[in-house]
Amino acid sequence: MSALHSELKRYLDRQTAGGKLRHLYLLTGDEGMGKKTFARNMAKQLLCISENAVKPCNICLSCRTFDAGTNADYLFIGSDSRNILIEESRRIIEELSLKPINSKRKVVVIADAHKLTDQAQNSILKTIEEPPEHAVIIMTCTDKELLLETIVSRAFHFALRPQGNEMIIDALGSATPFSLRYGGGNIGKTAESLDGSFTEKRMEIFHLLKSIVGAETTDINENMYLDDLERDLHLLLMFLRDILLIKVHAKCLINIDMERELQKTAAETDYQKILVLISKVKRAIELMDSSTNRKIVFCSLIYGN
Ligand SMILES: [Zn+2]
Repeated sequence: MSALHSELKRYLDRQTAGGKLRHLYLLTGDEGMGKKTFARNMAKQLLCISENAVKPCNICLSCRTFDAGTNADYLFIGSDSRNILIEESRRIIEELSLKPINSKRKVVVIADAHKLTDQAQNSILKTIEEPPEHAVIIMTCTDKELLLETIVSRAFHFALRPQGNEMIIDALGSATPFSLRYGGGNIGKTAESLDGSFTEKRMEIFHLLKSIVGAETTDINENMYLDDLERDLHLLLMFLRDILLIKVHAKCLINIDMERELQKTAAETDYQKILVLISKVKRAIELMDSSTNRKIVFCSLIYGN
């Protein structure tokens, strides 16, 4: 297991060693924090049949079949669709009712557990109330508020926290000063920002910002920003935040590698205009939640009052 979230790993080690394992765990944290990876590693650890204290051992039958995706005592539930339905929860309950084949336990990971319908959560709840001794369910979710209170109250809750730069660099192999600041301790976000296509997009957004600040909006091609408008609006907000910081002579820019270019752009505009732009971008981000027409959201940001 990588050094990420090692404090939780140590906690889990102590719980396992003390025989105080719970039947339902809930891992929460922002998108990109590594919840699914942690849940999988946790499942592998709980299923490991090595006599060694250090688990997972990576060599026992359970660990090897886990890595090959054929471990009969493990079930992963993840769905690209909007909901995880009652049929799926029946499959989970049935799986957990069976005796383990190789390990002492049976482990089910339910990724994005908020996708479980209320009906599906209620049916799982019955299993949790009187669980078979060997059953462990690990749920992941961005926010515990998205689950039924009855589920949360029965779960042992782990909140994944932002990780230090050293841990992130260790896990990714390398990172740039910008990517570390952009990621803010979130490994998924840091990794995303190291990608070439992200760098390209970031430069596009910087040019968009310069066009807006310079009131040269006639050259803007809105179709360039409609694929992932929400991400693009957040990038725009990030640049505006940095320019505001430059205006008030503060440090801690996120775009630390573009300080000079940002200073130039900051000099071309005033404090008040930046504040107005920030509130306009924030409003556009809010509209993204309610409006499906991204073109209207984008055009009202650029051309609206
Ligand atoms: Zn093992």
